[in-house]
Amino acid sequence: TDFADLGLSPDLLTAVADAGYTTPTPIQEQAIPYVLQGRDVLGCAQTGTGKTAGFTLPMIDILASGRARARMPRTLILEPTRELAAQVANSFETYGKHHKLTMALLIGGESFADQERKLDRGVDVLIATPGRLMDLFDRGKILLSDVRILVIDEADRMLDMGFIPDIERIVSLLPKIRQTLFFSATMPPEIRRLADAFLTNPKEITV
Ligand code: AMP
Repeated sequence: TDFADLGLSPDLLTAVADAGYTTPTPIQEQAIPYVLQGRDVLGCAQTGTGKTAGFTLPMIDILASGRARARMPRTLILEPTRELAAQVANSFETYGKHHKLTMALLIGGESFADQERKLDRGVDVLIATPGRLMDLFDRGKILLSDVRILVIDEADRMLDMGFIPDIERIVSLLPKIRQTLFFSATMPPEIRRLADAFLTNPKEITV
């Protein structure tokens, strides 16, 4: 399979070629067409499988095909650590360089002022760790009512780090009608239960 067979737009295919990728990885091959179709995805995949591009590439295409630039975030990506969140933000910047998408990276250890200024200007994409997202929400800085796509990445690490109550609260603040992409390297019962609660008729992918 070639990237061109997955349904991505020419701009994204250019970004993929610029990144030096010639062949999609198995998770990309399986996830990208379903994400583009608007399906929920439950992906059992570790870091290093190319899963980040597996969700960021089709998300950029979906966002780019939207009408006007949104004032409120349309996508929310939750990551367990600052490092992972920063990596996903880098991927978005790399793959989205042909699009005018705006993004806020909301992680701990950085000033609230910068993040709040960004949010005030309006962004399309939020990439966040759960604690900082909740802090900003509680300060009244984030509206989540326009979120159409939610990504929960590394769910089993979220569980290990005690973030599940935060995640449940965050999901309760989102519109019920949305697309949800859920990734975990392992699927213990607690993670299965969460996936069942958050996803609707998901396409299950294991790599
Ligand atoms: P990830 O699993 O998303 O953290 O990606 C692992 C690494 O694989 C990253 O450094 C990506 O830049 C790289 N990568 C992602 N997709 C591809 C691909 N189709 N071909 C070659 N490298 C890739």
